[in-house]
Amino acid sequence: MKKSQHRSLSPYRFPDKKGHFGEFGGRYVAETLMPALKELEAAYQKIKGDASFRKEFQSYAADYVGRPTPLYFASRLSEATGHRVYLKREDLCHTGAHKVNNTLGQILMALRMKKKRVIAETGAGQHGVATATMCARFGLECEVFMGDEDIRRQSLNVFRMKLLGAKVTGVSSGSATLKDAMNEALRDWITRVQDTYYCIGTVAGPHPYPLMVRDFQSVIGKEARKQVQKQTGRLPDYLMACVGGGSNALGLFFPFLQDKRVKIIGVEAGGDGLSSGRHAAAIGGGKPGVLHGQKSYLLQDPDGQIIPTHSISAGLDYPGVGPELSFLHQAGRIDFVSVTDKEAMAGFDWLTRLEGIIPALESAHALGFLKKSAKKLKKNSIIVINLSGRGDKDMGTVADYHGVSL
Ligand SMILES: *Cc1c(COP(=O)(O)O)cnc(C)c1O
Repeated sequence: MKKSQHRSLSPYRFPDKKGHFGEFGGRYVAETLMPALKELEAAYQKIKGDASFRKEFQSYAADYVGRPTPLYFASRLSEATGHRVYLKREDLCHTGAHKVNNTLGQILMALRMKKKRVIAETGAGQHGVATATMCARFGLECEVFMGDEDIRRQSLNVFRMKLLGAKVTGVSSGSATLKDAMNEALRDWITRVQDTYYCIGTVAGPHPYPLMVRDFQSVIGKEARKQVQKQTGRLPDYLMACVGGGSNALGLFFPFLQDKRVKIIGVEAGGDGLSSGRHAAAIGGGKPGVLHGQKSYLLQDPDGQIIPTHSISAGLDYPGVGPELSFLHQAGRIDFVSVTDKEAMAGFDWLTRLEGIIPALESAHALGFLKKSAKKLKKNSIIVINLSGRGDKDMGTVADYHGVSL
């Protein structure tokens, strides 16, 4: 990273008042949605400095979600790599992934805004489940928009959402996947802004969502920063996390952005390899464009049409990435790499066998990167990896991959 760029990031004042991270972010929406976004922004400004909100968030984070999650020293991974590897155990959160940190924060906001109905988009169903969980806990009506194709592929999560009392509405437009579900949720929101709260699942969408979701997920990095200092006496050399929309990554990374000596690596889904065209690496293989109310790196054809994505991990299968990550890529503060489906599966097997922890296929991308790059890193480095979720949801995919029928 160049010196001049360090200066521009410190002090860190992003996003600006209009939600821009440099050229990225913003609020590219229909006029009819502006009042709802302004109402949300005002509500967020109000709770941001509010001690009673923070206390409420911390109380549910502790007793309901199970925070703080451990920072676990993975001794056998460490031995295998010649480094000191620590795993931030978001897989131990209630519902099995980091997503619930954000839905907790947003549902508490919905309550303060006196909204009775909550809507969400979901791809693999993890954010839908986390939203449905919080709505069940607080007695709110919940409707989740999900592409028909994803409903077919992720039937277990559809069933979980229904058990939790949510209505799951299929979306048949476009490729009938996550991006279409998000379009549909935005459309629904326009028609019912009075009583409806839209809970977005990652650090994407129009301002103030990327800011809000980053702040709620930053609990991961705040805890990890204290834990790693306590356990090793210093800050880590590397942070690594998988990147779909970017919420688990930014949640870990954000509290370390000013620590110039900490190297930060985001791992995108390389699918069959970037040169194959079958992947979901928005930064590695995309260009800046506008989607879902924000400007960011996107996978698109020369006409700017969004192209179909592929990843073995449903949670990384999104054609875009949050605007702040696009900005931090451009500023040189975060290095983005990608690993293929095959390398992610190798990371999955590796962690399962060496540490007795079955990771989500999303998180397995970060492990796959460590596995293939460990030798190239400075010896005996302290490495913190975000273990964003557990792998139970992926058993079907893993069995298929190994040609086993369950
Ligand atoms: C959804 C999900 C991701 C990807 O989303 P981000 O916003 O990039 O974090 C990663 N890991 C798990 C376990 C997920 O459920």
